[in-house]
Amino acid sequence: MKILEYMERYDYEQLVFCQDRGAGLKAIIAIHDTTLGPALGGARMWPYPSEGEAILDALRLGRAMTYKAAAAGLPLGGGKAVIIGNAATDKTEALFRSLGRYVEALGGRYITTEDVGTSVSDITWVRQETTHAAGLPVSAGSSGDPSPSTALGVYCGMQACAEEVWGSDSLRGKTVAIQGLGKVGYALARLLQESRANLIVTDVNEKVAQRAKKELGATLTSIDGIYDAECDFFSPCALGAVLSEKTIPRLKCRVVAGCANNQLQHEEDGEELARRGILYAPDYIINAGGLINISVELEHTGYNPAEAEAKVRAIHNTVARVIALAKAEGISMARAADRLAEQRISAVRAIRKLYL
Ligand code: NAD
Repeated sequence: MKILEYMERYDYEQLVFCQDRGAGLKAIIAIHDTTLGPALGGARMWPYPSEGEAILDALRLGRAMTYKAAAAGLPLGGGKAVIIGNAATDKTEALFRSLGRYVEALGGRYITTEDVGTSVSDITWVRQETTHAAGLPVSAGSSGDPSPSTALGVYCGMQACAEEVWGSDSLRGKTVAIQGLGKVGYALARLLQESRANLIVTDVNEKVAQRAKKELGATLTSIDGIYDAECDFFSPCALGAVLSEKTIPRLKCRVVAGCANNQLQHEEDGEELARRGILYAPDYIINAGGLINISVELEHTGYNPAEAEAKVRAIHNTVARVIALAKAEGISMARAADRLAEQRISAVRAIRKLYL
């Protein structure tokens, strides 16, 4: 892979390689765009089979954060860190503090937080070396686990979709097929059950699926059978790339709305959903609740849960704006979301020139 060419194509600002033999750290920080503010994105820990895959993951994830923050109206840019290592065996205080020193050296251009493979306690180690770390424990006056906010945002986005498709934002009596009952999926299932929606669920973890059946009255289906479920909403809450040429023809829903990142396997899959009359709530619009919650922690006045909740609930309006833009321009929801984000970045980039 020609890294600088790739960076030029998608207009990345910076790629940082971090190596600390003593701490066992091998990490990459990708800063995509800081037009709207410092680049915020989690630090992912994953045993990447090759350096190339780690670099590409950091670059792709960092760019996705730019779009997510821009579309959510936040004063933040996009970036991501990846640590090459096994989260089950390789974690040490020294490793995370070493990462913290690299983050500090960026002088606030990049703010890190937890992600797949890292936890609030790991970020607390990072915080020993830098102030540019967020998503710390609630006991430290911070925003804590972002998952409940992500679930609330998805729920509010679903309401906006319901309003468009059925003329009312009530989810009562609607059937939602949820793929994955992890931190976000289970919290979403609970919110839906409280609204008297019907649940069809699956999870590779049989225990959590049984719990949803017992606690929430959910109907269980198989890992693969979830794509064939007769439902109003299909909600991917586990893995990325689940919407593909193989799965889309099987869907029997009117709306796709879930928390998973990068749900479309290819860009064309967003067009295919539109062609089939399925309303797709773009993933980075509807799953921005966790990021929005963290952004409140970064405000001068400090973290305020009521303010955070109000901002997360506004995802309802953002989804409605994407629907309106898609209809007005005759484009897919996926494209409309990108346009919304790009328009905001371009507008702010243009005013910057005035001060040069
Ligand atoms: P999690 O690891 O807690 O939950 C994932 C769940 O999916 C687990 O219960 C797992 O057993 C299940 N699963 C894995 N493979 C599956 C499969 N093939 N079929 C069915 N179930 C499967 O993760 P999470 O924090 O709930 O995040 C879920 C998704 O949402 C991820 O894609 C994540 O990147 C994205 N996301 C999460 C947040 C957040 O605040 N946690 C924010 C934005 C996006």
